[in-house]
Amino acid sequence: MRRPLAALSPNERAVLYTLRGRARSAAEIERLTRLSLLTVRRHLEALEAQGLVAPAGFGRSNGGRQPRLFALVPDSRLALAMHLELPGAKVATVGLDGRVIAARGVPADGAEEPPVVLNRLADTAEALVRGAQDGGLIGAGVALPGYADLPRGVSLRIGRASAWRDVPVSDLLSRRLRLPVALVHDTAAMALAEAEVGEARGQRHFAFVLAEEGISAGLFLDGAIYQGAFGNAGLIGHMTVRPGGRDCYCGNAGCLEAYASARALAQRSVELSPKRPGRAISSRGVVRRALAGEEPFRTVLDEAFQLLGVAIANLAKILEVHTVFVGGYPAGVPDAARARIVETARAHLQPPLRVHFDLRYSRLTEAGLVGAAIPVIRRFLGVPATAS
Ligand SMILES: [Zn+2]
Repeated sequence: MRRPLAALSPNERAVLYTLRGRARSAAEIERLTRLSLLTVRRHLEALEAQGLVAPAGFGRSNGGRQPRLFALVPDSRLALAMHLELPGAKVATVGLDGRVIAARGVPADGAEEPPVVLNRLADTAEALVRGAQDGGLIGAGVALPGYADLPRGVSLRIGRASAWRDVPVSDLLSRRLRLPVALVHDTAAMALAEAEVGEARGQRHFAFVLAEEGISAGLFLDGAIYQGAFGNAGLIGHMTVRPGGRDCYCGNAGCLEAYASARALAQRSVELSPKRPGRAISSRGVVRRALAGEEPFRTVLDEAFQLLGVAIANLAKILEVHTVFVGGYPAGVPDAARARIVETARAHLQPPLRVHFDLRYSRLTEAGLVGAAIPVIRRFLGVPATAS
């Protein structure tokens, strides 16, 4: 039997943390943790006995004997991850290295009673865990869109999902799963995924902007997520980019989302078409026809990308982040077509930010799902996922 997880000491966690992503010798760990070599060796032995660490061959010699290396055993513990999208949801088991071990899609509709949806997620999670070969569960993480009260574990509202109001997600799921449940905003989860397993590894500051049905930003600052008082920092979709502009469903006018969300692309195209198409057009359809040079699709997409560029420049200036990742529909558009985003952003930045500015398109798949597990994994390794 493994020792209970709570028995891991801060020093054991510190040793384990150095082994994320690479094997190391005891001497390297000694240098990184500033623990004595004897202490490091004792902890490695204890971690090995718990299945968390395993020998990983030998490193390069510095003249003497080749040092023995140790590595984290990624599937020795599992985190449950859930990404609620509405419509639809996904559930996965994720190893300590942030890799998805098994995942399943779950049907979910915004008009359904939330406890019914959450029970379905829990059923799927239990089925996945039953199928897992190894690994004790260290907790569950849920990534969700919309407005939340994260300190209380409550989802306040998710876009147009009519049944989704004041849902105590953490309580309902932790009672059912008998595990601690951590909530994270889905864009913050995507930023965490970039930081742990994506192209942002090693970066201390960056933002992740998601443009899909809604538009929001995950703010990774000083090595952790800045989530604001209630967890809603970075919801840039409702920043005004055209004073007195198009009405937004939030009650304001001229919001970024009213021009640059996937939904707005479709709506604007219908509004601006001289012959209104008989059936609704999808955002993918707008992009395809815009790339073929067809009007009004070309104008609609160009304006969306221009305003997205303005919003990204504003965000970069406020936070002084050099790197901004973009996910969602722009990540699937050819470079030539989306150049408008980076050109506009750059034109609105001043040196030194302009010189260092780096806009990248996210290449992670399932970033929301992976990122839902990261706060759970970070807590296990003794590293905070959020700044507050
Ligand atoms: Zn709005």
